[in-house]
Amino acid sequence: MYIPTIGLEIHIELRTKTKMFCGCLNDPQERNPNVHVCPICLGHPGTLPVPNRSAIEEVLKLGLAVGGKIARKSHFDRKSYFYPDLPKGYQISQYDEPFVENGMLEGVRITRVHLEEDAGRLSHAILGKPSAEKSYVDFNRAGIPLMELVTEPDIKNAKEAVRFAKALQRLMRYLGASDADMEHGQMRVEVNISLSKELRDESEKKLGTKVEVKNINSFKAVLGAIEYEIQRQTELLEKGETIIHETRGWNDEKKKTESQRSKELAHDYRYFPEPDIPPMTFDEEEISALAGALPELPEQKKIRFIREFSLTENQVEMITDEIFWANYFEQAISELGTLTKEPDNNLLLNYLTSDLWGMMKSTGVKNETLKVEPEHLAALVAFIQEGKCSSRIAKDVLAKMLISGDDPQEIMQTEGISLVSDDETLLVIIREVIEKNPKVVTDFKGGKQVALQFLVGQGMAKTRGQADPAKLRELFERELI
Ligand code: ZN
Ligand code: MN
Repeated sequence: MYIPTIGLEIHIELRTKTKMFCGCLNDPQERNPNVHVCPICLGHPGTLPVPNRSAIEEVLKLGLAVGGKIARKSHFDRKSYFYPDLPKGYQISQYDEPFVENGMLEGVRITRVHLEEDAGRLSHAILGKPSAEKSYVDFNRAGIPLMELVTEPDIKNAKEAVRFAKALQRLMRYLGASDADMEHGQMRVEVNISLSKELRDESEKKLGTKVEVKNINSFKAVLGAIEYEIQRQTELLEKGETIIHETRGWNDEKKKTESQRSKELAHDYRYFPEPDIPPMTFDEEEISALAGALPELPEQKKIRFIREFSLTENQVEMITDEIFWANYFEQAISELGTLTKEPDNNLLLNYLTSDLWGMMKSTGVKNETLKVEPEHLAALVAFIQEGKCSSRIAKDVLAKMLISGDDPQEIMQTEGISLVSDDETLLVIIREVIEKNPKVVTDFKGGKQVALQFLVGQGMAKTRGQADPAKLRELFERELI
């Protein structure tokens, strides 16, 4: 048996207005290449980088949120390497004085968090013939603030790695520091993994050779890459072969890792202090001001939601997983409180997490394109609570809200949906149903409860689903007993 030891290196692009060392816009939406560029981010000689204060503050805030140690003094370094998307021939990064050290998230120790600049984007196009093969460079991304977080090798399996990465994504979103969307390359995970023999005693302790896996662009790929590597390395070790210390890339189509190059060591990068940016210091006052400005974090929000809204831990877990939904739910709940005397938070949560989410999933509506306002969802739930709308009709109305974004009241009016709720109207229908189904009525009187179900169904059909079934049942019983 072999035991995996896994550490992560995660790069996250920060959502600042401008780039890390110049005034160019940090605009990930830009589709035209080389629009947001200037002599600084293109690495022209003689230009001077100026650090982006808000990018640094975001990293310090993350450090505070994970209970890390904030550097009292820090500086940037040059990391030398050549790549066509790196016009300067070096990346401004941090080596021996990262902004944050230590800290903990999801039970995984954090080694360090530092700040650097992103590189440009390369694309390789084959235009017809192999001889016309071309590569393009887009420098819009060059110089965007990039946070790098390194964990201790505390992770034991693929699922734990995914859990950590998701928790970090959630935290970055709560902090408003980044969307950290993996599919858009805003969050990039690298995995360090080695296998060691199961120990009979501590004296045997020896870590195996470490392999680094890059090019992981989704949580699914994190899972796949780690599971694949555990398998691959186990098979090699069982055959008595040695593991090569190398960088591998995850191939998402073939679902396997492929050798890229042997791993460079830190000294290959020839790190040295960036001479164009003076060292920085942070005093107690600045740090406590940042700590005071931290927003409510996922754990705190969970505890408050359980207490304030009398929900269970599982319910709260669902709703606080994404800051978008936590805010949405809280807005809806406060609206519901103004609409009804006894707001049914559970009912609201159900309509949100099963009906709305289900409809969004099946119709492909994303958070960004959702037209249903939290206030409107609350209004719909209030109608259900007041018996103005049956749960069956509510689903139809919600489906229409999803398309138009209209107020549920408006939809019910224009569609001519009005719940049949007055006893008189219902009793007319009920008597009709009773008259037409004498056998079923006898069955019911003979003790058959299913017979009642049938009668209620007939009543619902007659009102075209616009009656409250509970009300119908009650009236049928009253009429028949
Ligand atoms: Zn620039
Ligand atoms: Mn890096």
